[in-house]
Amino acid sequence: MTVNNKMEDLIESLRKDLKQSLAYLSREDYSLIEKAYEYASYAHSYQIRASGEPYLVHCVSVAKNLAELKIDTATVAAALLHDILEDTLVTEQELIKEFGEEVVSLVKGVTKLNKYQFQDNITEQAENWRKMLLAVVKDIRVIIIKLADRLHNMRTIKFLPPDKQKSISQESLTLYAPFAHRLGIYKWKSELEDWAFEVMHPSEYNTIKTQWQKRAESNTQNLQDVEEQLREKLAAADIMNFRIAARPKNLYGIYKKMERQNKPFSAIEDLFGLRIITDTVENCYSILSIINSSFKLVEGSFTDYINVPKSNMYQSLHMTIVSDKGVIVETQVRTEDMHQRAEYGVAAHWRYKKRVEGGAKNEKEDNKNTLAEDRLDWLKKFLEWQREMTDSGEFLTSLKTECDFEQIFVFTPKKKVIKLPYGATALDFAYAVHSDIGDTCMGAKVNDKMVPIDTKLKTGDICEILVRKNIKPSKNWLEFAITASARSRIRRYLREHEKKAENR
Ligand code: MN
Repeated sequence: MTVNNKMEDLIESLRKDLKQSLAYLSREDYSLIEKAYEYASYAHSYQIRASGEPYLVHCVSVAKNLAELKIDTATVAAALLHDILEDTLVTEQELIKEFGEEVVSLVKGVTKLNKYQFQDNITEQAENWRKMLLAVVKDIRVIIIKLADRLHNMRTIKFLPPDKQKSISQESLTLYAPFAHRLGIYKWKSELEDWAFEVMHPSEYNTIKTQWQKRAESNTQNLQDVEEQLREKLAAADIMNFRIAARPKNLYGIYKKMERQNKPFSAIEDLFGLRIITDTVENCYSILSIINSSFKLVEGSFTDYINVPKSNMYQSLHMTIVSDKGVIVETQVRTEDMHQRAEYGVAAHWRYKKRVEGGAKNEKEDNKNTLAEDRLDWLKKFLEWQREMTDSGEFLTSLKTECDFEQIFVFTPKKKVIKLPYGATALDFAYAVHSDIGDTCMGAKVNDKMVPIDTKLKTGDICEILVRKNIKPSKNWLEFAITASARSRIRRYLREHEKKAENR
């Protein structure tokens, strides 16, 4: 067989692969993909990746990653073409003529992002974050393509020289995985982390992997027992629409937990989880009550993220159950919608757009859209805050705080829930309620007790802010205000105040 024949075979098999993964697109939409595919295979012909594979394999892999999110046609087309402006002789003009403005602006966005190379230097790293976010606000799909691109690059990272492997992995851990998490694309986040973990800490990775496999083997039976028991109880209660899935924990997550709790692998108990996915919210709560009456729950392990979603709009019921045989199983209960959102996050937004254009709008979809909008809203707000921040170190710190998923829920006296990052103080709470309340905050009552404004809050606290007109934000507030919104507001006040003083 000649080289050319081989190449033609590959092009055909990739085409088939791609088509299969995009079965959710209409035939019309698919014709654009087909065209982008032809174009990419022509423009990248003769280019070879470090893995020795033709470049086209990379383009298709990125497109297929995105297809997993059931993302819109323009984004998939842009994914096929994402490296074309950077790595081939094709010009922007030619591309616009063939594919139109929308696709090309996505490709251009990805090309721009590639210019922000990772730096060890913390200031430059923060600068990259900032530029990435600015790019995102114009079109968040750019970052989603970039994440899909990074995912395939991590899958093939072993073919790069060791120093490159390290810097790319470091960047994936500090930049891309948190971003995937923020967007709620949990699947990608876990995978990015595990690839990077293997490169950054190979011996820890291998130890945990081996121990994990051993434990998995000995635990399979136990887990099956619990699952069997669950099935029986649910069937007895006439709950029919559900499926139970095992929930693998990612290795990097286990590693972080061992580090955080300073425990050896043997002391980490909740390695295995079950997930019960059902059709309605009502059923979620029925299943909860069945679990409650048939198993022992680890004390304090129940969290209701359905009523109080996480800040990335994640929803589920969480609990840790103990079986008859003493097996500890982390369990989550959620609807199919919640599951899709938990695995693929923000992408629900484009799915929604598609269907509305197709004329099949319904209430459920409306709800999904609001949730996705919320997430975009978070990004926009965050960017407004970061414009107030001139210092890049400061920017990075608050981004980390904002991306940290350890959330607390504090109530106003009227029982309104305010979500705050872990470590937030009464002052942060005041600013979260209203910026004017923050500016004039003199103290707080937490659970009816007077406390100073630097008091750290915890979930369930009822917090009432006491204000006084002549109070003004002061510099030392920055020592204990941790949320980006509070800090930017305080800084702005201080800056404006200084300016006024100068003008005098
Ligand atoms: Mn690429």
